[in-house]
Amino acid sequence: LVRLRGVHKSFGDHVVLRDVDLDVRSGEVVVLLGASGSGKSTLCRCVNRLETIDSGEITIEGRALPSEGRELARLRADVGMVFQSFNLFGHRSVLDNITLAPVKVRGVARREAADRARELLTRVGLAHKAQAYPGELSGGQQQRVAIARALAMNPKLILFDEPTSALDPEMINEVLDVMTELAADGMTMLVVTHEMGFARRAADRVVFLDQGRILETGTPGSFFDAPRTDRARDFLSKIL
Ligand code: ATP
Ligand code: MG
Repeated sequence: LVRLRGVHKSFGDHVVLRDVDLDVRSGEVVVLLGASGSGKSTLCRCVNRLETIDSGEITIEGRALPSEGRELARLRADVGMVFQSFNLFGHRSVLDNITLAPVKVRGVARREAADRARELLTRVGLAHKAQAYPGELSGGQQQRVAIARALAMNPKLILFDEPTSALDPEMINEVLDVMTELAADGMTMLVVTHEMGFARRAADRVVFLDQGRILETGTPGSFFDAPRTDRARDFLSKIL
């Protein structure tokens, strides 16, 4: 579904991604691991073109990423993104937060979008919060709304960038549970997380980034139990 080949990205003379080759197949869950500053967020942002790459190639379903206009809007609709900070509209109800983009971008009828939003809220366990405002919800609930909002666009792929890092410990699992279910349902996901339990349970593949380079890639079992590089061993010893 997504293919990166020889991707390079620098900010000024600071090289952030070096010769990155990565494939995410349809239905696959890839967890991206690496120390702070290793380029995880930048890699995600390049996939939905919030950042441009300096060289190399990124394709989705075989097509190069569009650079502007309607095609770019379509790309953003096809590639959902869930961030650490939930970025919900504070002055809009939960339901409105979820229906806004489908109505505006996909041209879905308001009524239909609302029905679908309620369905998605049920799926993330928040059917009773449709009329609430984000400020009235806990962090975990807001993040589940953000996931429902991403799903409302029927994305081909969802990028998750540390979706639980801003949450209190007791709320982390309610978000990870929703993500685990999504993974089991066959959603294609690229996930940056430090939640190793989730990675073990849900990932088809783990990719370890070190200073912008992919150092290791493998199944969660092989990576966690038998990392091949010192850098990965060092990383795991700090995080586990
Ligand atoms: P973290 O775990 O802390 O989120 P990360 O792996 O997501 O780290 P990135 O956010 O991708 O790392 O950043 C990689 C490097 O690129 C860092 O050194 C960062 O300072 C730099 N960087 C990121 N965005 C920019 C930017 N817009 N301008 C300049 N430098 C940037
Ligand atoms: Mg980051």
